Amino acid sequence: MPVRSSLARHATRSALPTQLAENAQVRAAMAWFAPNLKWINDEQARLTEIPAPSFQEGQRAAAVKALLSASGLHVQIDAAGNVIGELPGLHEKEVVVLSAHLDTVFPAGTDVKVRREGSRMLAPGISDNGTGLAALVAIARAIHEAQIKPQRTILFVANVGEEGEGNLRGMRALVESYRDRLKAVIVLDGAGTDHVTTIALASRRLEVVINGPGGHSWSDFGMPNPINALVRGSVRFINTKVPASPRTTFNLGQIEGGTSVNSIPYEAHLKVDVRSESEDELARLESALRDCMAAGVRDEMESSRDRSRGKLEWKLEVIGSRPGGELAADSPLLTALRAADVIVENESRIERSSTDANVPLALGIDAISIGAGGDGGGAHSLQEWYDPAGREMGLKRALLTLLGIADVAPEKTR
Ligand SMILES: [Zn+2]
Repeated sequence: MPVRSSLARHATRSALPTQLAENAQVRAAMAWFAPNLKWINDEQARLTEIPAPSFQEGQRAAAVKALLSASGLHVQIDAAGNVIGELPGLHEKEVVVLSAHLDTVFPAGTDVKVRREGSRMLAPGISDNGTGLAALVAIARAIHEAQIKPQRTILFVANVGEEGEGNLRGMRALVESYRDRLKAVIVLDGAGTDHVTTIALASRRLEVVINGPGGHSWSDFGMPNPINALVRGSVRFINTKVPASPRTTFNLGQIEGGTSVNSIPYEAHLKVDVRSESEDELARLESALRDCMAAGVRDEMESSRDRSRGKLEWKLEVIGSRPGGELAADSPLLTALRAADVIVENESRIERSSTDANVPLALGIDAISIGAGGDGGGAHSLQEWYDPAGREMGLKRALLTLLGIADVAPEKTR
């Protein structure tokens, strides 16, 4: 679940074609949601209760595959683990993707049982991305029930590796496979209908590892200590100035090392996430981290009394990199989204974020990320919740955007 920063609210009062909403089959697809909201909620809860940490999405993937197959799609699982359900269009050489990520940030063993309190559902992952997955299968089902044949081929994709160190690997593999035919990607991530993410925030994840000889806390006191060096370097780094514009952030997110309180550690790790609206700032922060860690290691070596049994070694690795990019204001995909907003009487604002849409956007392929309706909160926490009130509007909005860009074939052409 991305944290978003918002830009200007876009006007939804433009004179856009609403023929789509007048098409009888499209109306039938939209009408499918209301009587099936309980089914959608139940499927969301069922999928959420199948653990799916990044790199361990297989069991949840199999469940989504069965659901998409039941909607008449030809479904396969690719080498990366992505579930891909295909609805062939009249023009099979042009492909539109509707995707939702399968993975969660919660490690194996996390209690993911869904509790219900009134209309709310509570469980880790229930909103991010139980909501997106439930919408993916519901929209596939609605299109199937309405017997819609699209102009462009639609791929319904439940992809792996969106969160954390998954590093968008599922979307990278998908875009690589379909790149020549891919016209647009619509990513469903989390709840809400208040935003459309069209600007991909560039980010890097960096890991620092410092190694030393290690020893006993009392008898070997004075040897260089990797944790000391890491702390010295970290204190330098967190004093790095970042600009408010272009907005740039860093986070020391994970720190590990040592084996016991009375041992001088032989290893220390630090993971840092840096984000910016500017690639130059990212590069600057990465080199600042390198400089600070080099200085931290040097300080620790200089202050150690006993260097006889070895010195500190350190390295910095880029463990993740998300490219930046931006959807053109006049793109057909954004036009389709705005038309959908008009039809469902929704207002949404343009946002900038780091999502699966980064991958196509960085390659110049039209892409957006949107919420799938309803309301949610506490993403990436054990208190995560989802309230499906208002979900139907989000489903219609996503459906209309999808059909707006894939287009519906006239009935007589089939
Ligand atoms: Zn998410």
